[in-house]
Amino acid sequence: MAESYKSYVQQLLHNGLKSRKNSFFDHIDGKLLIEQSQRNVRYKIEQQNRNMGNCINFGRGKSSKLQKNQVPNSPLSVNSQQQPIISPSSVQFSINNSNTNGITTPSSSGVSSASSSTTSAIVLKSTNENTRFQYVAIFDYDARTNDDLTIRKNDLLEITLRKNAAWWKAKNENGKEGWIPSNYVAKKDSLESEPWYFKSIRRIDAEKQLMSDVNEHGSFLIRDSETKKTDFSLSIRDNDSVKHYRIRQSEDGRYYIARRTTFPNLPELVIHYTKTSDGLCVNLRQPCVHIIKPEPDGLSHNLVDKWEILRREIKLIRRLGHGQFGDVWEGVWNDNVSVAVKTLKPGSMNPTDFLAEASMMKRLRHPNLIQLFAVCTIEEPIYIITELMKNGSLLDYLQNPRSRQLKIPALVYIATQIARGMAYLEQQNYIHRDLAARNVLVGDDNVVKIADFGLARIIKEYAGGMYEAKEGTKFPIKWTAPEAALYNRFTIKSDVWSYGILLTELVTFGRTPYPGMTNAEVLRQVDQGYRLPQPPNCPATLYTIMRECWHAQPENRPSFSTLQYRLENEYNGENPEFSN
Ligand code: ATP
Repeated sequence: MAESYKSYVQQLLHNGLKSRKNSFFDHIDGKLLIEQSQRNVRYKIEQQNRNMGNCINFGRGKSSKLQKNQVPNSPLSVNSQQQPIISPSSVQFSINNSNTNGITTPSSSGVSSASSSTTSAIVLKSTNENTRFQYVAIFDYDARTNDDLTIRKNDLLEITLRKNAAWWKAKNENGKEGWIPSNYVAKKDSLESEPWYFKSIRRIDAEKQLMSDVNEHGSFLIRDSETKKTDFSLSIRDNDSVKHYRIRQSEDGRYYIARRTTFPNLPELVIHYTKTSDGLCVNLRQPCVHIIKPEPDGLSHNLVDKWEILRREIKLIRRLGHGQFGDVWEGVWNDNVSVAVKTLKPGSMNPTDFLAEASMMKRLRHPNLIQLFAVCTIEEPIYIITELMKNGSLLDYLQNPRSRQLKIPALVYIATQIARGMAYLEQQNYIHRDLAARNVLVGDDNVVKIADFGLARIIKEYAGGMYEAKEGTKFPIKWTAPEAALYNRFTIKSDVWSYGILLTELVTFGRTPYPGMTNAEVLRQVDQGYRLPQPPNCPATLYTIMRECWHAQPENRPSFSTLQYRLENEYNGENPEFSN
């Protein structure tokens, strides 16, 4: 191997690449709703009593999302002044007047309320332990390396070292110490530690998770409001639908759904509506079970910034498929983590170009982009180690007869995720250049991630925001915008064109676009203004979006962030065409 290449590799490896913490899935899971909420509330009360010589503080600070657990006024400090309920227009689904008298629905959880007697019965751990174990596990994590720590949900942990944003060293109550992904723990008694708090997930994702089979009538979650920073939204599964309620904050920082009943913090609000529906469609029964667990950042704590690994760390298990540059295998890293391994045919890519591309991929971190874990470049064939996606490419998935059951909302949900991943690339000034169903991969529960950034380039490195494709490069013509196909002008707007074509693949279950037309015909006709007609069963609203993606003038096509926004809202049932 040429010395220059070796030193280039070494330089890249030494420089490393800062990876981002995956914040989208950085939310929590859990089942022990009441216990946990009450524990948190009681713990605060005990702490407060201890600090103030049992004198309860009636003062209230202004609440914020970062300071969830304000000290309650009393163990159940529901403010039950009979104030008028909030107007229907101000909640997503308001509590209706006929149902505001606090009709008590027995809680299926069978957990007792937070009364002062039960509060005093709580045996708190020693103050020492309380201050030492400041974190709680919110997901299970199985050690991947000898120096990792296996944790189980609700384990109390002491954080002993924060190596980087993604991996921390933690000690458990048995004194065992090791590395854990930082997005698997939350500060004890924080809002993030509540099993029902799903942080900033979108309404569309809340619905998706609540409607999954593992959840049932009365499952619920609380998330940050999409429209107002200080507010939250409560999403509840109501048999076969999901209802959303706005949780507001009064001027004095108390939380309420209906103004007549206010609470000093969210746990108390949850406890109240667990015991009684009090105007909601159903009382809160169990926190939504997470169907998506966050990915740790990288394979392990020492592969975040360093990413060349030894080939012997990888075992190839079975061949999954093959592409232009070589085979794709299911593999195992360190005998315990399933990965996908792309093996590049010797000589199929210039190693320097490859490393430059791989370094870009490694920096791009988003829940809807395939995560690049590591590479083996020192010997041929080069290995690219990425996240393994169980259900293979979106194209194969759609063409599988079982996919015919997917209804429009499920297809739009897939389209939304792709728009999210692309909006992230757009924000990072990247272009994909080969967006198509074959380059999107499918995991469980219709989670999709965009793969193959092999052709992406940083736009700003090129004059005028254009990337001029190399002479003779083969384009997938039917997915390519005319200005890209004819004049090699690739921009994020040519990706938007391809996205419009991908939408047709979705609604036709993987049919090749422009059936019966050759590439040359497509190129000529599209240049003359011809566009794919509305596919059968494609909602008119979705076809309107496709047509906008195919605007002749690239600048008149919508941005991916606009596409994301529109799909999220249209999917949300505001447009009846998208509903089941
Ligand atoms: P090209 O080489 O032009 O990019 P391609 O995208 O079809 O073509 P690959 O990216 O090499 O080829 O992938 C080949 C097949 O391997 C895919 O169609 C998919 O079924 C499977 N595959 C690729 N990456 C993964 C992954 N991360 N997880 C699971 N399966 C994968």
